[in-house]
Amino acid sequence: MTDLRFRGAVTPLRRPADAGTLRRNAAAAPAALPSRVDALVAQLRPEQPLHCLRPATLAAAARSFRAAFPGQVLYAVKCNPEPAVLRALWAGGIRHFDCASLAEVRLVRSMFADAQIHYMHPVKARGAIAEAWGRHGVRDFVLDSAEELAKILAETGAGARDGLGPVAPEARGLIIRLALPKGSAVYDLSGKFGAERAEAVALLRAARPHAATLGVSFHVGSQCLEPAAYARAVALAASVIAEAGVAVEVLDVGGGYPVAYPDVVPPPLSAFTQAIAAAVAAHGLGHMQLWAEPGRALVAGGASVVLQVQARRGGMLFVNDGVYGALSDAGAPGFRFPVRRIRPGSAEPPAAEQPFAFFGPTCDTADHMKGPFLLPADTEEGDWIEVGQLGAYGAALRTAFNGFDQAMIAEVEDLPLLATPGYELPVAA
Ligand SMILES: *Cc1c(COP(=O)(O)O)cnc(C)c1O
Repeated sequence: MTDLRFRGAVTPLRRPADAGTLRRNAAAAPAALPSRVDALVAQLRPEQPLHCLRPATLAAAARSFRAAFPGQVLYAVKCNPEPAVLRALWAGGIRHFDCASLAEVRLVRSMFADAQIHYMHPVKARGAIAEAWGRHGVRDFVLDSAEELAKILAETGAGARDGLGPVAPEARGLIIRLALPKGSAVYDLSGKFGAERAEAVALLRAARPHAATLGVSFHVGSQCLEPAAYARAVALAASVIAEAGVAVEVLDVGGGYPVAYPDVVPPPLSAFTQAIAAAVAAHGLGHMQLWAEPGRALVAGGASVVLQVQARRGGMLFVNDGVYGALSDAGAPGFRFPVRRIRPGSAEPPAAEQPFAFFGPTCDTADHMKGPFLLPADTEEGDWIEVGQLGAYGAALRTAFNGFDQAMIAEVEDLPLLATPGYELPVAA
């Protein structure tokens, strides 16, 4: 006999802040904590990573994207599923959510009874389809194969019910994910999902009789710096739709919209939305509902992490978070993030800057972030460093490896460390 136990890999952001650390380092109760990063650090003197969420920045990014995009905006939940982030996006007007797992579906539904949830993973467990459809009111499912179409039809078929009784199968939305040629995005997403042209044509024809809403989707890859990549993908979608010869209601142009990093100034948001709108018009798809699934663009600027320096060896800083924590993209992918030093109570002007690299806290040599990160040359053990643009694929990728899974989380009023062209910022408080 044995027990089967289930435990999420990491849920530290859902736990209350470490009470011991707060007690040891701060006199005040959490309710009295300041809402500015510098003041927070001065009071908490945190020895664990401190995640600083910026709800006003998140809401403003959501408003900017909604204003610029000529269609429905679905937030890609995997990018950052933190409830405070979802609440801020909701405040910014986001009502549609692109979920890719049952856990994401349940989370969004538990928070927002009125949310429109779209299940956008092309390969799903049968039970997940059935629960999403029957219990959480999910009507739209993405697919890229005949096998997945058969699964969806079986699990949402005539016998399927929700809490109110039988659900008409005609309510289904079926979205066919297209494969794209390898593109220019920093993260290519073409290798895993998507139907090639002939298969996509066959799937559109096969799905049509079973769908109230039929759609085509694609993803150009994440942090895509080239507006023309969307135009090329729209052209491909148009030719697949024409070849299929069936009515298609939805064109979902996916995610991938870029944000600024210290060495990257992307084209403004309007360059992307205008390229998409122009391609839609040029290919005669103006009658279709247009959807987008931004992740990174909505949330990157909305969170930072404050690290503490635990040792300095030359130009190498040993810090308390790393590639197994929220800084995964600073490791092998080599992203540079904006940084600034925080040294509470110091009246001296900071020294001239020099480039540093970081080692994270785990014992793995690969827990290395080459940067370079520009910080005052006299940065030393005990200093804090705020790392910005970490709202996207930061906290969401944390692990518990080596026991470094504790973190604190606070909501702050600071502006982001970097602005991305085209995204409104909240009025400074
Ligand atoms: C990850 C993902 C997104 C979000 O991508 P970003 O590059 O963060 O905008 C959108 N849609 C799908 C299907 C995804 O897998």
